[in-house]
Amino acid sequence: MDRDKILLTPGPLTTTLRTKLAMLRDWGSWDSEFNAITASIRQSLLQIIHGSNDYTVVPLQGSGTFSVEAAVATVVPANGHILVLDNGAYCKRAAKLSTMMGKKCTVKTFDEAQAVDPQVLEACLQADPSITHVIMIHCETGAGVLNPLQAVSDVCKNKGVGLIVDAMSSFGALEIDTRQVQFDALIAASGKCLEGVPGMGFVFIRKAILASCEGNSMSLAMDLYDQYQYMEKTTQWRFTPPTHVVVALHQAIAQFEEEGGQAARLARYTANYQALIDGMAALGFQPFLDPQVQAPIIVTFHAPKDAKYDFKQFYLAAKDRGFILYPGKLTQIETFRVGCIGAIGPNEMKQAVLAVKQTLTDLKIQTVA
Ligand SMILES: *Cc1c(COP(=O)(O)O)cnc(C)c1O
Repeated sequence: MDRDKILLTPGPLTTTLRTKLAMLRDWGSWDSEFNAITASIRQSLLQIIHGSNDYTVVPLQGSGTFSVEAAVATVVPANGHILVLDNGAYCKRAAKLSTMMGKKCTVKTFDEAQAVDPQVLEACLQADPSITHVIMIHCETGAGVLNPLQAVSDVCKNKGVGLIVDAMSSFGALEIDTRQVQFDALIAASGKCLEGVPGMGFVFIRKAILASCEGNSMSLAMDLYDQYQYMEKTTQWRFTPPTHVVVALHQAIAQFEEEGGQAARLARYTANYQALIDGMAALGFQPFLDPQVQAPIIVTFHAPKDAKYDFKQFYLAAKDRGFILYPGKLTQIETFRVGCIGAIGPNEMKQAVLAVKQTLTDLKIQTVA
């Protein structure tokens, strides 16, 4: 078998052999050995945010969006009013699912090339005291923008409104320290910067608000309060757990800790990012974002200007050379995205740049910028 293609996407990601090998066993969901693994994962996750005292973490089956939906359903009461700080595609998804979960939802739109503005948030909260919760996306994976978690958290705390953070593509890589930031709920998933396989999410919930979450969810499967209560009482997952995903995440977290935790992961992804943008710049590719707002997670590049460029062909040619690129998600301009995350280092990024160079030659694309 050929080597697996390297995934330069925002999840699923390239995983290590050790993580893949963890999935070669079957587990019973009532088995105490398996449930000890779940408990150990929860403990490790809480340590990453320094939240063992004030927060709990509730895992949930499904892709990351399932957990965002569950967090909104569980944390926001029926008479709540959500303000979504919108600077991209994942913000729009959060607004849509909030509305579909039956919550009143207002959207404040920002430029997708800019971070959301905490001062504008403050003015919005001032103007409409009926807002009870704010949703922000930490790293807007649509364009790759890093949003100001600390400042948004400070405004919400001052104003006494709840904060729900989608930290799906940042958690594990960017610092999130509950000794500095406060939120009601923060969501991430197995298959992103922790480098597990996809199939489960997890939601950090502030203990002080847990009691008020009872009965909020109009969905049985998405009720994190119920999932929490059941797990605390029985040590088990409420419904069939994604056993192979759980044990793979356990192995992935062990490697995360061995590597040196969040700081080491950020350093590796930053090196990946630097190798990528330096190499792509030498080929004439321009990033869409100002480096000031760019997270070292995923980079949006302007597509080549050449009339011969077509993303589908570009994708297939790069795939032939072993690398999976990602389409752009901007509405106005033609772009493509390259992820910097996963069990890869700067060498793989340099190989990816070489593959892009060869792809340009293969497709006879001459004008890049
Ligand atoms: C990946 C991601 C999600 C979840 O996407 P799924 O496809 O449901 O796993 C949500 N928010 C952000 C910011 C993401 O990057």
